Amino acid sequence: MRYKTLRQFYQEKYGDRTFKVPVDAGFSCPNIDGTITRGGCTYCNIHSFTMVEEGDITSQVKLRIDKLKEREIFNYIIYFQSYSNTHAPLNIMRRRIEAALVDDAIRGIYIGTRSDVIEDNKLDYLAQLNTKYDVMVELGLQTANNITLMQTNRGHSVENFVEGVRRCQEVGLEVCAHAIFGLPGENMDDYKRTAELIAALNVDMVKFHNLEIIKGTAMAKMYKNGEIQLPTEDEYVEAVSYGIAVMPPKTIVSRLQGEAVESMLLATSVTHNKNLLINKIHKYMDEHNLKQGTLHTGKMPKIYGEFSL
Ligand code: SF4
Repeated sequence: MRYKTLRQFYQEKYGDRTFKVPVDAGFSCPNIDGTITRGGCTYCNIHSFTMVEEGDITSQVKLRIDKLKEREIFNYIIYFQSYSNTHAPLNIMRRRIEAALVDDAIRGIYIGTRSDVIEDNKLDYLAQLNTKYDVMVELGLQTANNITLMQTNRGHSVENFVEGVRRCQEVGLEVCAHAIFGLPGENMDDYKRTAELIAALNVDMVKFHNLEIIKGTAMAKMYKNGEIQLPTEDEYVEAVSYGIAVMPPKTIVSRLQGEAVESMLLATSVTHNKNLLINKIHKYMDEHNLKQGTLHTGKMPKIYGEFSL
């Protein structure tokens, strides 16, 4: 195996096919609602995320699970994906999460959020849930370059992300880190440093994304004005291959590309054909003798740039 895939991990852990059940639980994002900034990350359009079922939280889960049962899939991970799913007072967050826990075959809960909105009381609650379900907190780093984080209006620093990961790990929660390769102004050195930083934190899962230009975003305007040049597909393949090779063996490589809904996509330089991209990555890794862990050192790279809001 070149790397540890999500399918392999699920198979080992649950012994059967396991699918995610995406939920929109009605949270907002502190980077959109003014808690931290307004406008959101310049690449973000929340409507480009995975489609969920209709209705309230419980209905969304039940409807999707019914469909999965028809396909003979009997293990489920509840995936709170849209917005920042810890961005609410604890009692509200708790009510929303528990509204989704409506089937005995729910094995895990994955919570997409930001490193700046996971206060201690929420961590304690998630740690408590973790005694019954496999709880994973998904945190976006996107880049280990603070200058890029400021330019993309990310609203938090690399240091804040590092602290967020460590706080989750301290209470026993698993962590998934997200990276984007191709943000404006960045090059291969940035992509490699981003992967190295994630690897040094020994996270449980990583998701790599190529920068996709999504309609209706600030970046779409920049792209139309000719201010953004996307990396080539070959450059992206090199970046992801390196990213996999620096990860420790324990890290699940869960995603290899952006997954924006096609109708929302303005531009991308990487094929949306998953198999084609995977084959290219595998070919590159084989040609360069790379496997997960081959280049892992565990050393924290230097964080580039100072952050201020
Ligand atoms: S990418 Fe995430 S953190 Fe950034 S604006 Fe969108 S929902 Fe908020």
